[in-house]
Amino acid sequence: MTEPLLRAVGVRKHFAGTEVLRGIDLSVHKGQVVCLLGPSGAGKSTFLRCVNHLETIDGGQVWVDGEPIGFRLRGGKLHELREREVARQRRDIGMVFQRFNLFAHHTVLGNIIEGPVRVLGLSASEAKRTALDLLDRVGLAHRADAYPAQLSGGQQQRVAIARALAMKPKLMLFDEPTSALDPELVGEVLEVMTSLAAEGMTMVVVTHEMGFAREVADEVVFMADGAVVETGPPARVLGAPEHERTRQFLARIL
Ligand code: ADP
Ligand code: MG
Repeated sequence: MTEPLLRAVGVRKHFAGTEVLRGIDLSVHKGQVVCLLGPSGAGKSTFLRCVNHLETIDGGQVWVDGEPIGFRLRGGKLHELREREVARQRRDIGMVFQRFNLFAHHTVLGNIIEGPVRVLGLSASEAKRTALDLLDRVGLAHRADAYPAQLSGGQQQRVAIARALAMKPKLMLFDEPTSALDPELVGEVLEVMTSLAAEGMTMVVVTHEMGFAREVADEVVFMADGAVVETGPPARVLGAPEHERTRQFLARIL
């Protein structure tokens, strides 16, 4: 088997003495979609934040495409990276949050080209071309000149996905991307995520959308109390969970 694109080994995190992640192991291979499920407070968001080093970890290590996140491997030892170098690693990891976090004073197009121009050093015309392609993929080419406030929540979230993709990430992390949306807008966002998965994007998705998990995930990981309780193909974990904790959670959510 090839090296996973994302490999988390024994990731630990505590806040003010409370252990929030108690040794998380997770491997995601290139092109795989993994859905992270679990009750509120399980540590799902914290784990995603540890993957892209928005949180420093207290134990274990995260590797993305063979690189230790936050560190450089030299002479068999890990040396902590400076913030600028961490920012470079972070570029490979796209993140989409529950709240869309678009820049309100930029147009849709402006939101998407900002990173590629400022961080990747693309010319404005190059960045625009890519941005329009991406907007087409998320079904919003006709809204390029709109401002976020003029869009529905579902449209804003699709722009947020396009903006993350504009940085050409190797890995996409989604943290409850549809939880803040009105129910009738959830489908359009899940559709974009489904096509992204079909195109081979590697994705870790925290979601309560069981239909999406069942149909799109290669693997489902159920977390509770800062630990992985069980992992497996969606049909098994969702259809025939082995642990009582998973059964209880699913009974509440389904
Ligand atoms: P989930 O996303 O699964 O709902 P979180 O990762 O958001 O869970 O939170 C896990 C636990 O960590 C919760 O008890 C939460 O209160 C705590 N926590 C998260 N972030 C912080 C923080 N910055 N400071 C203190 N506690 C935090
Ligand atoms: Mg969360």
